[in-house]
Amino acid sequence: MIFALKKHQTNVMIIAIDGPAASGKGTLARNIARALGLHYLDTGKLYRAVARDLLQAGKTPDDVEAGVAAAMSLDPDSLSDPALNSSLIGQAASIVSAIPKVRDALLRFQRDFAHKKPGAVLDGRDIGTVVCPEAHVKLFITADLEARARRRHTELLARGEALTLDKTRADLAERDERDKSRSIAPMRPAEDAYLLDTTDLDIETAFQTANDVIRRATGG
Ligand code: C5P
Repeated sequence: MIFALKKHQTNVMIIAIDGPAASGKGTLARNIARALGLHYLDTGKLYRAVARDLLQAGKTPDDVEAGVAAAMSLDPDSLSDPALNSSLIGQAASIVSAIPKVRDALLRFQRDFAHKKPGAVLDGRDIGTVVCPEAHVKLFITADLEARARRRHTELLARGEALTLDKTRADLAERDERDKSRSIAPMRPAEDAYLLDTTDLDIETAFQTANDVIRRATGG
């Protein structure tokens, strides 16, 4: 696909996809990256990996010094570790991610990744607002809590985690609240983000809708 970039923009294509957990943003971001031939980074994995390293070292996720050290020595090759997908690591990630110096330590990696040719799709909570405010297209993906809880519950059961739907819903609500209310880089849509509610959308319809937005925004 050929992109018509606006003059003031960088010569790589950057697509920012933010939203709460289990909103469908990860699947959408991966599909968009594949369709457009762009790199893809799930930035939640960075915070999850820091949380994993902390827990493995016997530290708590609110340990500022240990969190910063773990973020600074993070091995990007360890981001595909399946252990990162657990609900325990998700909760710990949302605690460690509220530490400003941890976020600072991970910023450069994300920005460098975004600017790799021919460009990248990044998903997270603060991509459109903090990591890549210059992104060509910003999407903020939502879905109501019940739909997200059901999706995440199905994923966790498939992973062999015996969590109830009630506990899954409560965990998501707690994480949303923490991610929205932290003082640094809170989860929120950028002013120029396109809002997409996937509550009643299947994966293909969400992809087509997002793709239309991207085509309109880039003149592609
Ligand atoms: O996206 P995922 O649910 O894997 O992210 C785990 C946690 O990492 C989130 O709950 C959030 O606290 C944090 N996170 C963040 N900023 C990002 C991506 C994730 O603070 N860009």
